[in-house]
Amino acid sequence: MARREYRQTAAFSLPTAISAPGYCPLAGRYRRGIAERLTYASFFLKIIRCSVRTNPCARLNMSVHLTQFADLGLAEPVLRAITAAGYETPTPIQAKAIPTLLEGRDLIGIAQTGTGKTAAFVLPLLTRLAQANERANPRNCRALILAPTRELAAQIDDSIRDYAKFMKLSHCVVVGGVKPRPQIKRLEGGVDILVATPGRLLDHVSTGALRLDGVKTVILDEADQMMDLGFMPAIRQIMSKLRKTRQTMLFSATMPAQIRKLASDFLDNPAEVSVAPQSKPIERIQQEVMLMDASAKRNALRDILKAEDVKLAIVFTRTKRGADRVVQNLEKDGLRAAAIHGNKSQNQREKTLANFKNGSVNILVATDIAARGIDVDGITHVVNYEMPTVAEVYVHRIGRTARAGTDGIAIALVEPDERTMLREIENLIGKYLTAEGAALHIPKPVKKPGGGNRGGGGGGQRRGSRPQGQTVTATGSRKPGGRRPGQGGQRKAG
Ligand code: AMP
Repeated sequence: MARREYRQTAAFSLPTAISAPGYCPLAGRYRRGIAERLTYASFFLKIIRCSVRTNPCARLNMSVHLTQFADLGLAEPVLRAITAAGYETPTPIQAKAIPTLLEGRDLIGIAQTGTGKTAAFVLPLLTRLAQANERANPRNCRALILAPTRELAAQIDDSIRDYAKFMKLSHCVVVGGVKPRPQIKRLEGGVDILVATPGRLLDHVSTGALRLDGVKTVILDEADQMMDLGFMPAIRQIMSKLRKTRQTMLFSATMPAQIRKLASDFLDNPAEVSVAPQSKPIERIQQEVMLMDASAKRNALRDILKAEDVKLAIVFTRTKRGADRVVQNLEKDGLRAAAIHGNKSQNQREKTLANFKNGSVNILVATDIAARGIDVDGITHVVNYEMPTVAEVYVHRIGRTARAGTDGIAIALVEPDERTMLREIENLIGKYLTAEGAALHIPKPVKKPGGGNRGGGGGGQRRGSRPQGQTVTATGSRKPGGRRPGQGGQRKAG
């Protein structure tokens, strides 16, 4: 309508003025009609929605700014439990993952142990279960959490107990190494949340003690470890038995190709959150390396563990027998140590872990499989008595310390045969653990990792000819003498 024509309309009504486009004498300017306004509004809405969709981070970034638990949308009893646990603010993985999970989206979480990832998936799970207000059918569960080891499964269940303390939700653990009958009995009435290791879970499914068709949420925790332990076929079997409409979460410290494939096969348009660069150890851990012959390790370990600053320590060995031997030696040296490995019964393992947690034993000597998922706050030292055979395992080992915002020390006792592994670890974490002269005695990493502090000069000794007990760390300059008593070598301040 032309402006002039509009001006000529003497008796214009208010509704006409709002709904019809044209010149508005009250506003003294051209005004859009309702239809035109709606078209504009929906156009802008579309632009906003489109930018959120095309940029998956947009959604997550919004949630990153929400730094209080109360802002995340969790149920009231969950918030109360968080307060009771003494948590003040969400950790980065919690801030990023919780809003997305509450929307019901699938999620890939790349996070190391110790970042608060258990709460990141348990808190929204509890909230959604409470909101759904349903009951589990007999011999069925509403949510399934798969973990690589019994210890991790038990710890996740402990966390659920804490976070659900003001709710009426049932949960239980199904793991190998214990009698199946009590588990079968427990499953009979159905449970809201089942935490399980893959092998025992499939046993119950095959005997009909458990059905999986009621599972609406499934969580794969430490997926890369489940793969390392050979659980991949079992996981695929379990996933194929679940209903199609469900929420699926996958948490892993690293994202090797097989885990990516697993995610693409079983997750539907997942959001991805990552809280630390892949395979990087937590920065708060002070990493040190002591180069020595194998025969010097026993005394070096004793001296490390007798130092005052050692409150709780985990010592890693490659074999179960090695772990027992180290415990015997430490006990002979007057230290309070206990072994935890696959040859120990579940009861023994639980007892050892309880003693470690209450401090009656302050040194745990563990193999990798048994130590998986050990979540004990206050571990001050991790000692790699024997280097792992896979570099990624080193990252998992040292992640036992520096949990929940604390600092920690990781010391590796490296004998000549283990130096190739040391180099692989340095390549993986992108940082030299040996400095200056020491670094010259191992083959140089192919690609110079970022952040390494490497001095020049020195050198000349052949590989393996270094005097026993020299200690070097990733940073700082050489400092004569060791902090630990009885240590013959030199040490670099970290
Ligand atoms: P996780 O990575 O799940 O093994 O958690 C590591 C430790 O952090 C556990 O001991 C938790 O109790 C603790 N934790 C988890 N979330 C928080 C938080 N928001 N504030 C303080 N501690 C936390």
